[in-house]
This record gives sequence, structure tokens and C-alpha cells, in this order.
Amino acid sequence: MDPSRFSEASINELRQLLSQPRKIVITTHHRPDGDAMGSSLGLYHYLIQKKHTVQVIAPSEYPDFLQWMPANDKVWIYESRLAESDRAITEADIVFCLDFNHLNRIEKMEAAVKNSGATRVLIDHHLDPELVFRFAYSYTSACSTCELIYQFIEAMGDKHLINKTVADCIYTGIMTDTQSFKLPTVTPLVHEIVAALLKSGAANDVIYENVYESSTEDRLRLLGYCLKDKLTVLPEFRTAYIALSQAEMDTYDFQPGDTEGVVNYALSVKGTRMAAFFSERDGLVKISFRSKADFSVRDLAFTHFDGGGHRNASGGKSTLSLERTVAKFLGLLPQYKAELVK
Ligand code: 5GP
Ligand code: MN
Repeated sequence: MDPSRFSEASINELRQLLSQPRKIVITTHHRPDGDAMGSSLGLYHYLIQKKHTVQVIAPSEYPDFLQWMPANDKVWIYESRLAESDRAITEADIVFCLDFNHLNRIEKMEAAVKNSGATRVLIDHHLDPELVFRFAYSYTSACSTCELIYQFIEAMGDKHLINKTVADCIYTGIMTDTQSFKLPTVTPLVHEIVAALLKSGAANDVIYENVYESSTEDRLRLLGYCLKDKLTVLPEFRTAYIALSQAEMDTYDFQPGDTEGVVNYALSVKGTRMAAFFSERDGLVKISFRSKADFSVRDLAFTHFDGGGHRNASGGKSTLSLERTVAKFLGLLPQYKAELVK
């Protein structure tokens, strides 16, 4: 492993803190994805073996295809358990913040985590962390937060505690954040970690089926509709996008997670450098951006759509109508044209 990620001095201090049973809250970003839930539950299954009292609190609901992970039934959704969650956060000795690095990414939970006297520990792989963490393990070179959870447990001297349960959770986040091991973030080290997870019992075939082959019929037909009727390709900007209204989503009985991955189809059009997916929900337009090579959709999301993320995968939001949001995006393309078509 890369020894620089979890320095001896800092890990020793954290090991000391964790040397007696603690009250621990683990949280992750709003609308959690596979890496968010995989890292949270992987860390949970490690920490309970060390006799800590651990509560995972997700700021919002997450898709069905992530609800099979062991101890999923113990996760609290902040929005639906406000009082208990606030109490747990207030009483916690330690709050682990996973797969995000600005407290505004936990939305309504932000105040509780900010005001808590708990020691905040960040483990994450996004750019520019907010300086509010006592321990910050923040590495943009990591393919996923789950990669870092593996290394964290290893640095703690507890590799032997990576059992099948921990391994299944960690494998999930590595698989989803790397789009099944195909992104440039996948290093030889990632494959070494994956090999170790398989040796610990991670069921790669079952995990793949649970995550990628468990669509409802409505979800698949919504994808069909997006590809057949909603995809717009703009070869002059090497850009493709899809925009879905609330009414269109309602037609297909939209459930959280149903449009996850749709943006990648837009990016798969030959020659495309940037793809965007817009969806309208509860008066807000949520946008997913993807790009290839060195075009930074993180900068675009950060500068124009109140968002952020990674260079090749980012997200943002807009309070304008869906039509106006798309128009704003289209209006920005000329200024990015040189970068997109080079
Ligand atoms: P997705 O498109 O899958 O929702 O998100 C892609 C990436 O962008 C993820 O790393 C996610 O954490 C990040 N992201 C998505 N939406 C937002 C947002 O509103 N703000 C920030 N800062 N990051 C976002
Ligand atoms: Mn991640």
C-alpha cells in the first residue's frame, strides 16, 4: 500500500482514540451511491468487530440496488429519523465522514454534524476538502472511498478483520466508482486490493448481479425511452445530453436510482467528450456530468451549477426550470468549444 496516505503519526493518534469502545456515527453524502454505502457499511462492519457502538446515518434515501448489503436494515435515513439521528450525532465521540468533503453535501444533517463535539474523521477522494476535520484522509488519486477504507483498516493493523462482510461492502464501492474497473483511476494497487477482497470472500458475481442486474421493468423501459426519444447529440461540441421532466419520470414510476448510469450511455456516443443528464424532481433540477480525457466537468459543475465532484464525473443542481437549465447549459457550450473539440 501507499504508506503516505495514512501516516504512522496520524494513525497512531486515531488508533489511540479507538482503543476503547466509542460511540461512532458514520455518514456519507446526500443521495448515496455504491461507494457511499459500501464504504459506510464496510467501515461499520470493521468497527463493530472492535466493540464500538456504531450508527450509520445516510442523509437521504438510496436505491434498491444498494439495499442488499449486510446490516442495511440498521442504517438510519436522516430525513425520516430526525430526533434520534440528531441525538446520536450529539452524543457521538467520533463522526466518520465518507465519500464527501464539504459538510453541505450532507444537506439537512450539516448543522448537527457541525455543532457536535465529536471528533470528525474524513476519508474521501474528492478535490478541495473543507477544513473542518480533525483527521483528514483525502486522496483524489484513490479510485473510490472504499479503496481508502481498505487501506485505513490495513494501516490500523487490522487486515485480518476484513472478513467476507467487510469485503463485500468494500468491493461494491470499488466496482461502482470505477464503472466495473474500467476507469483510469484503476491502478495495479486497486487490482491487488480487489484480489485480497476476493480472497476474503467477496462474491464479485453476486455483487454485480445485485447492483447491475436487478432493474425493474419500468426502469429498463425508462432507459429505453431516454435513449430512443430523449438523447440529443451535438457533434459540433462533442457533447450529448438527456433531460427528463418530472412528468416523464412519473410515467415510468420513477424510483431513486432508476436513472443512475443513464448519463454514461450519452457519453458512449462515438467522439463524445462530455455528457449531461438533467432530471427534474421536487422543484430542483439535478444534473450529472461525465467527460472523457482532460475535459473537467468538475470545473463546469462547480462554476455554473453549484456542484462539484471529479474531473470526469461530477454533479450539480439548478433552481431554474428544466428548460431554462438546459438552455443555460447549451449557452455555455460555445465558451467550452475549443476545449471540447481539441
Ligand atoms: P452523480 O452524477 O453520480 O450523482 O455524481 C458524480 C460525482 O459528482 C460524485 O462524485 C458526486 O459525489 C459528485 N456530485 C454529484 N452531485 C454533486 C453536487 O451537487 N455537489 C457536489 N459538490 N458534488 C456532486
Ligand atoms: Mn466515491
